Amino acid sequence: MAHPPSTPFERVLVANRGEIAVRIIRTLRALGITSVAVHTASDAGARHVVEADLAYQIPNYLDISAIVEVAGAAGARAVHPGYGFLAENALFARRCAEAGLVFVGPPAGAIEAMGDKIRAKATVSAAGVPVVPGAAEPGDDLTAWRHFPALIKPSAGGGGKGMVLVTAAADLPDALASARRTASAAFGDGTLLIERYIGDPRHIEIQILADGHGGVVHLGERECSLQRRHQKIIEESPSPFVDAVTRRRMGSAAVEAARAVGYTGAGTVEFIVDGTTGAYHFMEMNTRLQVEHPVTELVTGLDLVALQLHVAAGHPLPFTQDEVRLTGHAVEARIYAEDPARSFLPTGGRILTLHEPSPPRAVGELGAQPSVRVDSGLLEGGVVGSEFDPMLSKVIAWAPDRATALRTLDQALGDTTILGVTTNIPFLRSLLTHPAVQAGDLDTGLVERILPDLLPTTAVPDEVLATAALAFHDTPQGSDPWDIADGWRVGPPAWTAYRLESRDGVHDVKVRGLPREAAEVRTTAAAGAAEQDLSSRDAEGVPARLRASGHSLAVTLGGRTDRYAWARDLETLWLGRDGRTWALTRHRVGDPGDRPGAAGGGDGVVRSPMPGTVLVVKAQVGDRVGEGQPLLIVEAMKMEHTVTAPRDGLVTELPVQAGQQVDMDAVLAVVTSEEA
Ligand code: ADP
Ligand code: ADP
Ligand code: MG
Repeated sequence: MAHPPSTPFERVLVANRGEIAVRIIRTLRALGITSVAVHTASDAGARHVVEADLAYQIPNYLDISAIVEVAGAAGARAVHPGYGFLAENALFARRCAEAGLVFVGPPAGAIEAMGDKIRAKATVSAAGVPVVPGAAEPGDDLTAWRHFPALIKPSAGGGGKGMVLVTAAADLPDALASARRTASAAFGDGTLLIERYIGDPRHIEIQILADGHGGVVHLGERECSLQRRHQKIIEESPSPFVDAVTRRRMGSAAVEAARAVGYTGAGTVEFIVDGTTGAYHFMEMNTRLQVEHPVTELVTGLDLVALQLHVAAGHPLPFTQDEVRLTGHAVEARIYAEDPARSFLPTGGRILTLHEPSPPRAVGELGAQPSVRVDSGLLEGGVVGSEFDPMLSKVIAWAPDRATALRTLDQALGDTTILGVTTNIPFLRSLLTHPAVQAGDLDTGLVERILPDLLPTTAVPDEVLATAALAFHDTPQGSDPWDIADGWRVGPPAWTAYRLESRDGVHDVKVRGLPREAAEVRTTAAAGAAEQDLSSRDAEGVPARLRASGHSLAVTLGGRTDRYAWARDLETLWLGRDGRTWALTRHRVGDPGDRPGAAGGGDGVVRSPMPGTVLVVKAQVGDRVGEGQPLLIVEAMKMEHTVTAPRDGLVTELPVQAGQQVDMDAVLAVVTSEEA
């Protein structure tokens, strides 16, 4: 295939952040193009800024004027918008053109035609592409819709937000009203459409590429049926559901959809497919590079960003449809800063230790052996906050066959260590190894149905508790005035007690002896329970031993040695093993929550479940409240979370105000029992 494409621009501005900005910069570097990053004040040390050749600060990533101005000042000829932010903003595309900048994306008119789901469906339907049967405002009376189940969607929507599933006519009026409120708030446009809900639904999308000379090709499909709340989690190419004939037909339909709006550049046509009948229907077109584009790159050997630049420079596509070959199988997993064990609430924090599987695979490299590619926006020491999308990175595996690709991805996730921020890695690993996923028996409801099997336990294994206590014991002094290191006096070693708090409660663990040579560790798992010797496990009398070097710990308990990644942030110790992480905080006697077996809240202290912004304060100091009564609403990522009173009592502290930013676990209120 005639590739790589020519290098059309000397300087390109990347109007994005995180993993996608880093990924675009990678191609710019490979093509010898100078990369210009933009960043907000809080992102000054971010990975995309570090990796770019030049970087400029802007007020925020949606500030069109600032970005256009910076592009001019930096001498950039083109602007790549990535995905999200301004990628599907027709006004931005126009403003770039007016300033003499090439917008790396389709013409503004194509963005507009596809940005609105109602108009998009009408346009592609007229071009002969099958669409989901439905009704749309303003022409139709949505309250008269009678085919259930049905799905209400905001016409201007995206990212799975604001869609409502309706199963019976009686629920329709309320569902429409609620969807309209969400749509207006999230997208500034309350226009709705309603669609027949496709049974046994699979989300299968086609990657297309179009040049300005009438050339349009498709690059095969991606199966994106593994979703939660209509958001993709794991994607793969090819789809286990699609054969060569279906691929050709869906591919042609996607090409027709693109032609119908005069599309140029890379885009994705999303179809909802009935897994029982195989019938496929156009859902929408995303007029940008997608999060999951790497799986297509790995099976085609193409660099989509390089091709976007190539056609943006006005060149014809360097290959024909017949020259596109799909080789092997690729699977991607999205790593999110979220806690599946806490209803997937966003997390945050500082990245204390980072290990990503290596070596990273080159973009567009075609393999023969199983291999792994990492697209990441992470840097050790970086802070993950609540102002941006919680997707941190993507791990993508390629192998000659699907089973090997899934296994390779699972192993790569097990070889990923992110300490300091809780992520969904254990959840992704459970999902990848689930029998239905292994069998390729996917639909968009699968994840929700098997969710109980996938949620990681918060219980801290005994050997992890023992390891934490040994690690604290090994470095007893430090920042910690309340630590009484009574294990160090001359004579027979005495026990030192550690009270460690994790998400499953408070644990008492005690250690005596020297961790680097021979120590004993015991725990009292719950109040009243007998003490348990953790050092010897099965083999009686064998001492525990800890070896620390850099970011890793090796701990021998009962003759078995486990290896951990570790990091310490003041009184919190993070341990990581096989993609799982534990955070254990050493407690001062008298701290809130300092009670064996007490989980957070039992003490009346109300903490923020996520980093975010206090939206509403519904109580005041002195209020008498009942258990479960709403006290505040915290918001992050446009997601509201109501924080309630953990018990009956009086509100004695309420140290936050509406509009205030709060960290995860920040104290929001204290409810004191009136008996106390
Ligand atoms: P994909 O590219 O795979 O379709 P998503 O649908 O998750 O991935 O969208 C990619 C990014 O763009 C996400 O950060 C998402 O929040 C954001 N996004 C998508 N559509 C919109 C929209 N209409 N408005 C705001 N953000 C959007
Ligand atoms: P968004 O713009 O938020 O990405 P989409 O229209 O692409 O919205 O739909 C997102 C998801 O919702 C799809 O991936 C699919 O899981 C589900 N979905 C959308 N339309 C239908 C439908 N008609 N029947 C069944 N599921 C649907
Ligand atoms: Mg979509």
